[in-house]
Amino acid sequence: MIAAPPQPPSPVKPSYWHDFVEAVRTILKGMAVTIRNFGRVVFLRQATTITKKWGSRPIALRYRGTIGLTIDRRTGKENCIGCLACERICPDHCIHIEVIDDKPGHKGKYPVVFIIDNNLCSLCGLCVEACPTPALIHTEVWQVGGYSHRDLVFDKQRLLEIGEWQQEKWIRMGLGTVDQVTGKKSMQMTDEEWQAEEEKKRAAAAARAQRAAATRAAAKAETPAAGDRKAAAHSRSRHAPTASSSAAPTEGSSSPEAESPPSES
Ligand code: SF4
Ligand code: SF4
Repeated sequence: MIAAPPQPPSPVKPSYWHDFVEAVRTILKGMAVTIRNFGRVVFLRQATTITKKWGSRPIALRYRGTIGLTIDRRTGKENCIGCLACERICPDHCIHIEVIDDKPGHKGKYPVVFIIDNNLCSLCGLCVEACPTPALIHTEVWQVGGYSHRDLVFDKQRLLEIGEWQQEKWIRMGLGTVDQVTGKKSMQMTDEEWQAEEEKKRAAAAARAQRAAATRAAAKAETPAAGDRKAAAHSRSRHAPTASSSAAPTEGSSSPEAESPPSES
């Protein structure tokens, strides 16, 4: 015999008095907060609101706020290498970058223009993930506002300010520089390291040029010798005895060919 399935618990019946008690309880709970804050402000003179700029309330580390640009604290140079990966991956097309190929002392390309349009940015974080260096970060900055759309278009200077504010905060909190927090390595070098690398490159280029010159000289020296050999071979072939003369008998020889009579023709 099959056992009957267990019955679901019967729902609580709505009751007027139950709802009434619940409403009173909720009102008293809200009033308790109001009365407590009233007492703190009036009698203890404590503020119950926070008005400091850029977030005094603790914000979670993983909070994904306004995007910022960072500087490598070890070298003092911008971390961005102008690879344009962020611009390409942005689904909202709100990043605009212009780069120059060479800036002495800066590894990679140098972004002369770096703009993020926060009117369009959805804070999806794809640009931060695509960035190969710790140049782009999410910050805790969330109070971005303005009187026009133009106020929300951040140029490189503004982005660096926001990014550096965040990096400074991480350092103060003991989390370390942006490299340590993001786990990405900066590619920038100090001026001394840059000079040393340039020296190395120059030495390698000089060595290459020397090798090429030596190869050219050797080829040049070989060319006349080869020409002489060719000329000698040519003259030998011209003055070499023909087959019939070489076959001519020497004086006093008695080869059967020498003795044979000349043909009738
Ligand atoms: S967070 Fe997303 S939308 Fe905003 S700039 Fe980066 S890729 Fe574009
Ligand atoms: S911010 Fe990062 S991804 Fe964007 S151009 Fe610079 S290095 Fe490349």
